[in-house]
Amino acid sequence: MTAATTTPPSGGKMSLTVKVLIGMGAGLVLGVIFNLIDSEFINTHIVGGLFAMIGKMFVNALKMLVVPLVFFSLITGVTGIGDIRVLGRVGGKSFGLYIATTAVAIGVAIILATIIGPGKGFNMEGVDTSGVTGKDAPSVWDVFAGIVPTNPVQAFASGEMLQIIFYTIVLGVAVLMLGGKSKPFVEGCEYMNEVMMKVVTIVMAFAPIGVFCLIAKTFTEQGIDLFIPVIAYVVTLVLALFLHLFGTLMLMLKVLSGLNPITFMKKMRPAQIFAFSTASSNATIPVTLRCVTQRVGVDNSVASFCVPFGATINMDGTAIMQGVATVFLANVYGIDLGLGGYITVIAMAVLASIGTAGVPGVGLVMLTMVLGQVGLPIEGIAIILGVDRLMDMIRTAVNITGDAVVSTIVAKGEGKIDMAVFDDPDAGILTDDDLGIDEAAEKDLAAYAKPH
Ligand code: ASP
Repeated sequence: MTAATTTPPSGGKMSLTVKVLIGMGAGLVLGVIFNLIDSEFINTHIVGGLFAMIGKMFVNALKMLVVPLVFFSLITGVTGIGDIRVLGRVGGKSFGLYIATTAVAIGVAIILATIIGPGKGFNMEGVDTSGVTGKDAPSVWDVFAGIVPTNPVQAFASGEMLQIIFYTIVLGVAVLMLGGKSKPFVEGCEYMNEVMMKVVTIVMAFAPIGVFCLIAKTFTEQGIDLFIPVIAYVVTLVLALFLHLFGTLMLMLKVLSGLNPITFMKKMRPAQIFAFSTASSNATIPVTLRCVTQRVGVDNSVASFCVPFGATINMDGTAIMQGVATVFLANVYGIDLGLGGYITVIAMAVLASIGTAGVPGVGLVMLTMVLGQVGLPIEGIAIILGVDRLMDMIRTAVNITGDAVVSTIVAKGEGKIDMAVFDDPDAGILTDDDLGIDEAAEKDLAAYAKPH
């Protein structure tokens, strides 16, 4: 072993997370400066051109990992569990917890927003409401029927996460049923899972520059003037998001799993940064999966199912936004929704989060369904449109933390968590060493490649 590999990441070498944080800070500062300068050239060529291109390439690279990674890790997970009853239990528990956390999140958000009362006395004059269109709520039955794909190839090609999960689990169960015959296939999937995790490492190595470009672009485009008229909404929403993140979720983690919330939060930081920068739970799946398994210590058999499942159906942060936005708009329009109205909002938000994927801005689409259902004018969304990107970034970080908390609680209940990994502060930290090709591995491969 070389001296470099024995150096703990915290002792001298800069970890990837620190580099990403530096990229994020630099992007923020530069974005604010560019916003103030407001130069046509910078806006079009540097921010809209170069930064947009690099940022998009980075998000695309993350997305490119999602489908193969979920497939191979889930096959490995299902065959690793080896018992269909355990699989059912993991599925049932995580589904229940996902629904419960989302309902609590929006309930608390509505109560907090009712106490603070944002939007009272808001002046609608000057708000351009053209271009806001609504979307009808999907029926519960359609949402569930849509989980079964008619064509798995199409499901994989279009990244339909629930369909992919469903198909892969059925396939995994069939593989289990074939017993010993399946060994080569399972070993192949295990190998591919390892390969995909290495690809995640490669893509993550570009995160400092990718995150820098994404954040710089966002802050160049987001002027402070957008926030002033809706400051009460922003403050209430951020308060509710933080209350859920640091209060409800951490309390749940402590009570239901006994694990230390501070250690957990430190270990989830990379995934939270990725979620914040990309505003997409789906694109963050590879990083969340990596943090949950290699940093927190959750076994792949639980994480491979819970993480992609959560990224699709669990959106606590998004539900919180809908709660706060509904109260805000009800105040703006002077409409009293009453208890029944708010219960409808909770039910709708929970249902909408099951049926919609975690991609940027989808929360606003869901909000149109919720508003339509309780009879609030959909055009009201125009008021909060300007600040939604930043709010989306924060709520996505909350969304993926919720996924990780539930995955960890379920794993603890099943005895599928490696406490040595959880207790090791350096476990799974990425440094430059992780990207090097080991000399021994290189020789090994070269010898293998030679004609025998
Ligand atoms: N961007 C969020 C996510 O991917 C969804 C949303 O709230 O718009 O989780």
